[in-house]
Amino acid sequence: MADDRVNALQRVREEVGRCRLCKLGTGRASPVPGEGNPASAVMFIGEAPGFYEDRQGKPFVGPAGQLLDELLQFAGLRREEVFITNVVKHRPPGNRDPEPDELEACEGHLRAQMSAISPLVIVTLGRFSLAKFMPNVRTMREVHGRTFPYQGMLVCAMYHPAAALHQQRLRATLEQDFRALPMIIARARASRANEPANGSGPAAAPEQSAEQMPLF
Ligand code: SF4
Repeated sequence: MADDRVNALQRVREEVGRCRLCKLGTGRASPVPGEGNPASAVMFIGEAPGFYEDRQGKPFVGPAGQLLDELLQFAGLRREEVFITNVVKHRPPGNRDPEPDELEACEGHLRAQMSAISPLVIVTLGRFSLAKFMPNVRTMREVHGRTFPYQGMLVCAMYHPAAALHQQRLRATLEQDFRALPMIIARARASRANEPANGSGPAAAPEQSAEQMPLF
């Protein structure tokens, strides 16, 4: 099982390395497929690689990544224990927002990573990641810290750490949301443990209807 996960993630890594499904892959950007614990209970999904990530081929290694490392401590987690990736795997030029066709083109890679890891909890960092799961949410303020069921997992919406670099008041909000993560993981674990063996049972502790989760 552990080997299956490692192999599946390695396949995604190799596919991302040669991917030209959107124009981001034909620029000079380096692939940043994501990395971390293949058996992680939590998967963090950000927006896109930036300058530092592009140079190192690793996710969240710039200032926002340093803040993410600090925030993980509020959840009692270390970076090596979790899996971190983005909705697009190549850096958009000039750090612009990923465009709709790029988000759609890269979806298969993200889906493959989610399938390989099968985390208990997915933490969306920022609006582009959240939009994959909740396309109709207008502002992060409405939903940050809340969880939504998706295919036996809980999706937890959070601000992108970069937002707190620009708006200091959001740092306390992020800290508070990260502090709640252990409880959310425990809820998701208990729910999965109670699922029938065939996995067809209800999703974990819904706060919102699964019909509002049109992802993939
Ligand atoms: S951003 Fe995603 S879809 Fe676009 S080239 Fe890179 S890996 Fe492929």
